[in-house]
Amino acid sequence: MSDKKEKKVRVRIAPSPTGTLHIGTARVALFNYLFAKQCEGTFILRIEDTDLERSEECFEKNIIEGLQWLGIKWDEGVLCDQEQNHIGNYGPYKQSERTDIYLKHIKDLLSKGKAYYCFCSKEELKTKKEYQMSIGQPPHYDEKCKQLSAEEIEKNIAQGEPFIVRFKTPIKKIVFNDSVRGKVEFDTNLIDDFTIAKGSGESITPLYHLAVVVDDQEMEISHVIRGEDHISNTPKQILLQEALEFPQPKYAHLPLILGPDKSKLSKRHGAVSISEYQQEGYLPETMINFMAFLGWNPGGKKEIYSIDELIEEFSLECVHKGGAMFNIQRLSFLNAFYIRKKPLMELTELCLPYLLAAGLIEETNEGEFKIKETSETIDIVWLSKIIQAYQERLKKLSEIPELTDLFFKEIEYDKELVRWKNMADEDIRKALDKAESVLEKIEAEDFNKENLQNLIMPEAEALGAGDRGKLLWPLRAVLTGKKASAGPFEIIEILGKEKTMERIEKAKTLFK
Ligand code: GLU
Repeated sequence: MSDKKEKKVRVRIAPSPTGTLHIGTARVALFNYLFAKQCEGTFILRIEDTDLERSEECFEKNIIEGLQWLGIKWDEGVLCDQEQNHIGNYGPYKQSERTDIYLKHIKDLLSKGKAYYCFCSKEELKTKKEYQMSIGQPPHYDEKCKQLSAEEIEKNIAQGEPFIVRFKTPIKKIVFNDSVRGKVEFDTNLIDDFTIAKGSGESITPLYHLAVVVDDQEMEISHVIRGEDHISNTPKQILLQEALEFPQPKYAHLPLILGPDKSKLSKRHGAVSISEYQQEGYLPETMINFMAFLGWNPGGKKEIYSIDELIEEFSLECVHKGGAMFNIQRLSFLNAFYIRKKPLMELTELCLPYLLAAGLIEETNEGEFKIKETSETIDIVWLSKIIQAYQERLKKLSEIPELTDLFFKEIEYDKELVRWKNMADEDIRKALDKAESVLEKIEAEDFNKENLQNLIMPEAEALGAGDRGKLLWPLRAVLTGKKASAGPFEIIEILGKEKTMERIEKAKTLFK
């Protein structure tokens, strides 16, 4: 889109609130946002709730909150704000509040003979389609109601007959230049007289194609950047623009996101909504980087981009035509990367909700945190040490309770976990005695990683190369009850002398 400086760039996303914010919609939002920012244009959030039966307020809220969490900010559009319901001068930005605007255009099309009322019942249309298919014809509308006289129409409407309004599709070739796909051609003889509104009596409800075209015109949208699943809608919308004498926006259809089996990404491939990723503990920075590469690649080896770098480098010309593979390994890699980069206190704050939800800790009325099992008050610095010990190995925040529960509750484990290779019970007992006697000599206030390491490591090394595990494994196992954990010295420092000695003492009873 080299002409981006010529006309003021105004782009939009127009999600339908019929489900939670899908990663595909969020990716479309991100590409629109990046494009708008780099052209000093305007990014608009419009809510397409023409399908009133399927639209729900909770989904609208989820979409708004999801975009806010990702940091994709819109300049105009709906707000989740009690005082103000939108920002910008082209509102309202919710289709259900724009009915009068659409009606004007529907009436215009009807009066000019470019659209007509159709009273065929659903059953009748279904039977006809079934028949057409049975004789090998593609299903199509036979244009029966196109011939109705003004009197018949008036009579039906007066009787309250339910109707739809069909657009009279002219036969022609539609050609448009898509910024991603290049020249796209459609023959309209494959397009039925499609529906632009429905109603009965005096009431008319505008439908998707009409509402989109009118809104894009009224909101002066310069570029329509949306998913490839909409490409078959584009010729219909261009026909409507022509009939209404609206200018045509530029189009860019982004490739579909594909699951590992190369079919369109869906629930059966795993999480698809942004709120699920948020709950699982992916960071917004991760999602932004991940989504940017779903169908776009600037070339080169650079993998990590800040949002400002993305604004700088993004271009629609570098968007691929082919489907974008959803690569969960890359998502994991990025999240681990951003978790490692998080300042410790910030990461600790981010982990708190997971520890609370797992019932390991609880919040007091004074806003402090307590260990649920023991009611001990938690010092946030102590908590941050736990998080620090796991920061390197954390791939998503939701893993934190399982990794760190050993600090918040009594541990349970199988005796065999403590056994290093085929050590005899007696040798395990000796190793634990040894560890105990070394630790005994360190004062509680000196229980820090360096001191512990300085005193325990020589004992472990003394067992011979390759045999350090004879001391270190049983020690770490009885303190954590886990096969894998942070290193023993970090764990001992965090547990403190009392708890450490208690756990060793208890373990010794298993190896008499
Ligand atoms: N409401 C449509 C959707 O949620 C978007 C329509 C458009 O971008 O033109 O997929």
